[in-house]
Amino acid sequence: MIDLVLRNGITQDGPARSDFAIDRGMIIARGPGLDFSAKLEIDLDGRLLVPGFVESHVHLDIALMNDPRRPGRAKPFQSPLELNQAMEQRRKAFTRDDIEQRAERAVKLANRHGVTAMRAQCHVDPEVGLRHLEALVSVREKLRDVIELQIVAFPQQGLLKHPATPELFREAFRSGADVMGCAPNLEQAILPANRRDPLQPDGIKERRERFRRHIDCALDLAMELDVDLDMHADLSLASDIELDDLEIVYLARRALMCGYTGRVTAGHVCALDSASPAVAGQAIELIARAKISVISQPDMYRLGRTDARNVRRGLTRVKQLLAAGVNVAFASNNVRDAYRPLGNFDLLEEGLILAYGAHMDSVDELDALLRMCTDNAAKAVHLEGYGLEPGCSANMVVLDAPSPSAAIVDQAEKSFVIKSGKIIATNEIESSSTI
Ligand SMILES: [Zn+2]
Repeated sequence: MIDLVLRNGITQDGPARSDFAIDRGMIIARGPGLDFSAKLEIDLDGRLLVPGFVESHVHLDIALMNDPRRPGRAKPFQSPLELNQAMEQRRKAFTRDDIEQRAERAVKLANRHGVTAMRAQCHVDPEVGLRHLEALVSVREKLRDVIELQIVAFPQQGLLKHPATPELFREAFRSGADVMGCAPNLEQAILPANRRDPLQPDGIKERRERFRRHIDCALDLAMELDVDLDMHADLSLASDIELDDLEIVYLARRALMCGYTGRVTAGHVCALDSASPAVAGQAIELIARAKISVISQPDMYRLGRTDARNVRRGLTRVKQLLAAGVNVAFASNNVRDAYRPLGNFDLLEEGLILAYGAHMDSVDELDALLRMCTDNAAKAVHLEGYGLEPGCSANMVVLDAPSPSAAIVDQAEKSFVIKSGKIIATNEIESSSTI
């Protein structure tokens, strides 16, 4: 007798019904009318079965830092710089216990919404040292039955300001980090104040020099340690931008030169939408050649706030990237922290917001959106054994929806969330959600 059989489920591949046999945490067979007896059998009755959602970019160490009883920003939004200063200030009070407790609550909330794997960004810098990392390593061990957690060593204070920082990052990998982070925008403070405005002509050269040095340092460390690189790329919105101003272009060229293709993931990439279509086309070609995965984030919320009219949305060029064959995912990035006081670790919710922002509303585009938080996100973070084929890990979500596009538009209930063959969350309702 095996552990579990799911009967009559449909998948992202089409409406044909299939059974799934699960034993010892693995999918062992898939097909119509499977002849297994199991300790538990569930008839999905045509509901959609997908592999577990992958939260491919989230700042887990700072998540849920706001008062849950009155969600929202304490003071009105002023500027991105002010948000970063608020974060630097508030994290001084974080203890390892506090980080662990919030991260555990966050993982449980994500589980409830169908997330079974997560790539967590984690502050590493001379000020906090490895405190955040040690907390997340402990959470990874404690919750290994419910979440597959990767930890990115994220340079919240840059890589160049303090000479000891590269060695601190080597120590982070000896202490359990999985992926090298990269955030050129956080090197701002290494320049004198009068040379910091990238929109001024004499600031452009300085900005390029700064982001290239940061990327060089991050890439050199990633190659030395033989780990993947996860980059916060092109977060700002310039009014116009040249090819050489794009951080992702520099990284793509360097990755191609070093033979480091297929190992870089880039989040945000907002400035790509500020480039002319011709420049953006050249950039996308380089991104595709370097096999960089792009992760769209809720930048529509973050950017364009000073535009007096025709407010820019700040999203990357999702549809053009997909059309060029680039692997594109989306993720929550910040959930109820100093940067974004919104979010629920609910990727169906983030997907619906992206559908509005990126103008993705055909059935095919909505189907593609669901893959962006399943298959594409898994590919972006290099998950092994991901999917619904025999031999894959039994990490899956039963959605109360008759198709992928319905899952997004209906904001479908996650009927069952399964991790390593065990049901870890149920949200069963009495009747079908089909309208
Ligand atoms: Zn981020």
